[in-house]
Amino acid sequence: MKFKDKVIQFMTGRNGGDQLSTFLIVTSLALSLIGQAANLEFLVFVGYLPLGYALFRILSRNVEKRRLENYKFAILFSPLYGRSYRFATRLKMRAEEAKMHKYVKCPQCKAMMRVPRGKGKLMVTCPKCQNKFPSKS
Ligand SMILES: [Zn+2]
Repeated sequence: MKFKDKVIQFMTGRNGGDQLSTFLIVTSLALSLIGQAANLEFLVFVGYLPLGYALFRILSRNVEKRRLENYKFAILFSPLYGRSYRFATRLKMRAEEAKMHKYVKCPQCKAMMRVPRGKGKLMVTCPKCQNKFPSKS
């Protein structure tokens, strides 16, 4: 029997990898890396716990129960993933916007406004108080 077939036979009826196991493995790696970098043996040891649990879940034959765990995990963490993704997108958009525009303050009413970059000297009209002032872009 080929090695691959042996693996398939071994994994049949077992839970296999899922998001929760992936998360546990990543957590484990992160903990042991931090532990090694900071020379904290305690953290390296703690890092083995999620790895052990991930292995237990991957090899578990109680597929129903493991699926339910993964489902609960996904529900618990999906808003977090979504939020951090949106946050990252917003940061990226702001960084790109910063390349195109410059923020200037109106000397009269202190309102902030955007002016396009790379246009040399500009006369800016404040949208709030209609004050006109020169600005370098
Ligand atoms: Zn103004």
